[in-house]
Amino acid sequence: MKGLYWFRRDLRYFGNEALIYAIKAGTRNAVFFVSKSQWAEHDAAAIQVDLILRRVAFLGKALARYGVTLHIIEAPDFNLQQEALISFCEEHDVSEVYANAEYEINERERDVNIANSLSALNMAFYLYDGDVIAKPGTVTTNSGEMFKVFTPFKKAWLKQREHYFPSIEPWPLAEQQIDWAVPNCLASSGESSKWPVDDETLYELVDRFITEKLMDYSAKRDFPSIKGTSGLSPYFALGIVSVKQVLAAILQAYPDLLNQPSRPEFSWINELIWREFYRHLIFTWPHLCKRRNFNNKYDFVVWRSNQHEFTAWCEGKTGYPLVDAAMRQLNQTGWMHNRLRMVVASFLTKHLLIDWRLGEKYFMSKLIDGDLASNNGGWQWAASTGCDAQPYFRIFNPITQSEKFDPKGTFIRKYVTELKEVPDKYIHFPHDYLVLKPSDYPKPIVDHKLARERALAAFKGE
Ligand SMILES: Cc1cc2nc3c(=O)[nH]c(=O)nc-3n(C[C@H](O)[C@H](O)[C@H](O)COP(=O)(O)OP(=O)(O)OC[C@H]3O[C@@H](n4cnc5c(N)ncnc54)[C@H](O)[C@@H]3O)c2cc1C
Repeated sequence: MKGLYWFRRDLRYFGNEALIYAIKAGTRNAVFFVSKSQWAEHDAAAIQVDLILRRVAFLGKALARYGVTLHIIEAPDFNLQQEALISFCEEHDVSEVYANAEYEINERERDVNIANSLSALNMAFYLYDGDVIAKPGTVTTNSGEMFKVFTPFKKAWLKQREHYFPSIEPWPLAEQQIDWAVPNCLASSGESSKWPVDDETLYELVDRFITEKLMDYSAKRDFPSIKGTSGLSPYFALGIVSVKQVLAAILQAYPDLLNQPSRPEFSWINELIWREFYRHLIFTWPHLCKRRNFNNKYDFVVWRSNQHEFTAWCEGKTGYPLVDAAMRQLNQTGWMHNRLRMVVASFLTKHLLIDWRLGEKYFMSKLIDGDLASNNGGWQWAASTGCDAQPYFRIFNPITQSEKFDPKGTFIRKYVTELKEVPDKYIHFPHDYLVLKPSDYPKPIVDHKLARERALAAFKGE
């Protein structure tokens, strides 16, 4: 054995350039570490862990079809991963290890340690950037600084795109079946079974999104009762689907799209650039991974500690129907629509004035697409401690958001079943109606106007 490929959050073989380079260099063995303690320490949701295990089982079988062996090793945390990797390399005469980079602080520290240990043993460690389109740290101002707001970052990203325009390497191996059995440690509880893991279904999903939904994305993306978004976030978060590959497929259908920001299809590219932006942020300011404010100007804000209200938010029992429907969607499905993530994050941090870190942690523990960079970025944006170009007085009104984005209450009624019979007129704030028709639905835990004033005062330091 000479080369070894190390799978992490890049659980794919097609569109995995690092793996393809390794294979071209003769590598026929790969490794994946099942690190349950480490995942728990990073608050990974049970549904996401299940998706990882199911996908790794799929990957092991798929690679075996091409004569590549996937070795599954239980190594509870990063330290043990390092020990296990070194002993595997020594035992099997490995001289080169290939992997895709991860940009979170613990992962980067782990990789530095591993690179040093491998180098001391005369083994090479090659890291690629398969999780992104633009390598973090490469989209900068003219003076080489990282952007602190999104729009100039986006402009620079678009300008620099010739350097990383997606070129997808074809899969290099012919079929050559070898034996491979799913090991017991990949046993799945089936919690994520609604999310397919086989490539055929995933390619169909991507293809259908591009051919049938992309043109309507900007019109439909904000309405949670409509399936107007791609639903690809769990696959991007775990590298099951390559962002580069999807971008390349979109550019095949719309060759000039990157020069046409006013086209409706471009608004999807815009979201992909947000993803890139947040990866650049954690790469440049690793303290973000340690739950520090991006903007230390707001370190003085005194967050309220109120377990009762936090629990009501988590359980979807705030008395604000859209917030409650959203939290119940998260609790029941492991996913939440982007518009609602903004609404509930604003509600927790502004209406309840509860620390964004608690919301960030709760989201991670529930989301199938939990991803440190995007989750932290989204939470700090909503809490106004992040890189929002608007100042702290952006406070979403949960009632007008509901009227605008769920006008008939279709989404609310799906998850807040107590409100099924409430007429449209009252669905966004049903309490006047419920006085006459008592129900189990909770009373509002805060008054919108008072909560807004309290948040403004807290951010002004009053
Ligand atoms: C408070 C908060 C927390 C969030 N936490 C996460 C998280 O843990 N993991 C995660 O992947 N996304 C997170 N997002 C971003 C966004 O809500 C999800 O990516 C999106 O809802 C996923 O659905 P989709 O795949 O259908 O998205 P689409 O609308 O189809 O977008 C395509 C892809 O672009 C990326 N994307 C879309 N919106 C954003 C965004 N605002 N920021 C960064 N990337 C984006 C995602 O990878 C997504 O799959 C968060 C947003 C907020 C406001």
